[in-house]
Amino acid sequence: MAGIYLHIPFCRHKCAYCDFFSSVSLSNKSEYLIALQQEIRLQSNYFEGESISSIYFGGGTPSLLEPHEIHQLLNYIFEEFSVIDFPEITMEANPEDINYDWICGIRETQVNRISLGVQSFDSSVLQHIGRKHTAEKSFNSIQLLLDEGYNNITADLIYGIPGQTDDILKKDINTLIEFNIPHISAYALTVEEKTLLHRQIKQGKLSPPDENQMADQFYLIKDSLAQMGYEHYEISNYCLPSHQAKHNVSYWTGEKYLGLGASAHSYDGKIRKWNVSSIKEYIQSLQKGKILCESEEISPIMRHNEYILTHLRTKWGVKLAELEKMFGGQALLSLMENAKTPLSEGLLLIKNEAIVLSREGMLLADRLSSGLFME
Ligand code: SF4
Repeated sequence: MAGIYLHIPFCRHKCAYCDFFSSVSLSNKSEYLIALQQEIRLQSNYFEGESISSIYFGGGTPSLLEPHEIHQLLNYIFEEFSVIDFPEITMEANPEDINYDWICGIRETQVNRISLGVQSFDSSVLQHIGRKHTAEKSFNSIQLLLDEGYNNITADLIYGIPGQTDDILKKDINTLIEFNIPHISAYALTVEEKTLLHRQIKQGKLSPPDENQMADQFYLIKDSLAQMGYEHYEISNYCLPSHQAKHNVSYWTGEKYLGLGASAHSYDGKIRKWNVSSIKEYIQSLQKGKILCESEEISPIMRHNEYILTHLRTKWGVKLAELEKMFGGQALLSLMENAKTPLSEGLLLIKNEAIVLSREGMLLADRLSSGLFME
């Protein structure tokens, strides 16, 4: 089923590692929200009647919006699109924005899942990556959400941060387990160009992430969570039974999605489009009733390669019969030929009539998928 993503491109400050599209100026927030409403109306036929099963507020920092603003955007979506009963509606939130009043306000909206940017429960590690919240604030935010009945939480963790020892990471994982957080996303720290972190490393103020430490910490997270009954269902995602993220799964399985807002991407099965990455230009174009975007047609080869890329990262892997049905017998032959070496090296496995990553292969997912691409 289809999903809708809304991009809220505002942040209080820029975190040292972040290269997401966001602005630290909130001066045009109101105009932006009006433009978003306008885009919702203009895109109302995007799915041609297909129902929406998930809505996701990402950013940026969606928790900078007032609950009534979230409520209004959702009302527009419910008016313009066919939405299933009980859709998954996720909102990303930073721990520093969560307080009792905010939770009461959000309770009045249909948001039923909170994605919390915890990253670590160690304040000095948080400082290294330029996060403004403290460990205590994360702790209190989770406790407050749980006390107020918001159990459907997903928490983001980052590993491989300079100064983040295995003991610190183990404590982070244990804290989430003790809170019984049902969904955890764990990402390796990446150093993107043009970020403060990149500059700090270049100037020798911080050491770069260590590849061996990253690998060890990946398995530390994987094994600790597995012991406690978490399913590792995508390279960066873990969940307790029946808590997979519907929205994310729909991306990985090639469902249609509509991205609303500056820089948001959409995909209707044939064409990918992406909105302009400028808040000002986004607002100006919507004021004229137009959506400023670029697009590309997804060729059968691109579709095939994206299928490999996304499916290989999941526990279901690349299903051989499905691939043959979608792309033909030649594609299956080519896949099996390309997979020969990594299969013999034990980096890929055949499981349940699908090609999946082995434990060792998980660290090489990108390289392994590109080795299976068609040209
Ligand atoms: S990591 Fe999140 S909160 Fe920090 S700057 Fe990026 S989008 Fe904003």
